[in-house]
Amino acid sequence: MGLSNVHGVPGKLRRSGDPQILDGRAIGAALREEVAAEIAGRVAMGAAPPGLATILVGDDPASRVYVGSKHRACGEVGIESFDERLPVDVSGEELEATIRRLNEDDRVDGILLQLPLPHGLDSARYVGLIDPAKDVDGLTSANVGNLWQGRPGLSPCTPRGVIEILDSSGVEIEGRKAVIVGRSPLVGKPLAAMLLARNATVTVCHSRTVDLQGACRGADILIAAAGVPMMLGRDHVKPGATVIDVGINRTEDGLVGDVDFDSAVSVAGAITPVPGGVGPMTIACLLANTVQAAGARRYL
Ligand code: NAD
Repeated sequence: MGLSNVHGVPGKLRRSGDPQILDGRAIGAALREEVAAEIAGRVAMGAAPPGLATILVGDDPASRVYVGSKHRACGEVGIESFDERLPVDVSGEELEATIRRLNEDDRVDGILLQLPLPHGLDSARYVGLIDPAKDVDGLTSANVGNLWQGRPGLSPCTPRGVIEILDSSGVEIEGRKAVIVGRSPLVGKPLAAMLLARNATVTVCHSRTVDLQGACRGADILIAAAGVPMMLGRDHVKPGATVIDVGINRTEDGLVGDVDFDSAVSVAGAITPVPGGVGPMTIACLLANTVQAAGARRYL
């Protein structure tokens, strides 16, 4: 039996036949380096750095942490960031005015409205006010339409991260059966469109799916994005399949995914851990989307 390096775990050897552990930290770091190099090249030619504005309404502690790490990540790759904070009782008019001001601000290439919004503010309405050219979360109707029609546009960061993991790990997508568990607008649905565009045969499962296990066992690529701690185990995985766990669930035992890793790893051909799998890809793809938006708006 041959031995080879475990992906992203330098120096550690695995037997061929052991599952490949897909290391989102390493893949995300490589993507950030690419983004930083692209920005440095543009700035050296005299372009202004790309700009990302975040809008945080209220003071939800988890959202504050997410926004803070986005700003840090921007600083590390040379993206200028703009931090808009609004009180929890902000009026709809004031939130709308903030979005419209950022739409007009030429220093800003990407606008990210941190969700969820406090009770009483309709997320879909305010996301819909973002200029689609600056919609780095890929959630406006224009970008959702572009994605399903196979046209250029900005696509959501987490699904983009899943595709990056598959591509950089050499997992073939074309012609393979992909099963996604979860149909949210943020993850499951856009991922279905992206995998279809790459010529996978895609099944989307959800909370009303009958025989979920049977559907999952047909998958060459199984993607869990349901938000239910450790709901998929070895009985859901076809031997040798690639398993991507998008789930991030805080439990008494710490952070866990939607996949029972210890169980699924015994049959999977390749699998992402939680943490350290899809999670680190999301911010890396936000940075990549911001550079893409800057490129489309002013570099080309
Ligand atoms: P969501 O609650 O909006 O959607 C969950 C989907 O899963 C729904 O379509 C629902 O039908 C389906 N579902 C729920 N229970 C099910 C069950 N028992 N069987 C089959 N399907 C079921 O969630 P979301 O925003 O798409 O997030 C999903 C998970 O991904 C969460 O754990 C979330 O924290 C995580 N997430 C991670 C990242 C990241 O950066 N890695 C980003 C976004 C979301």
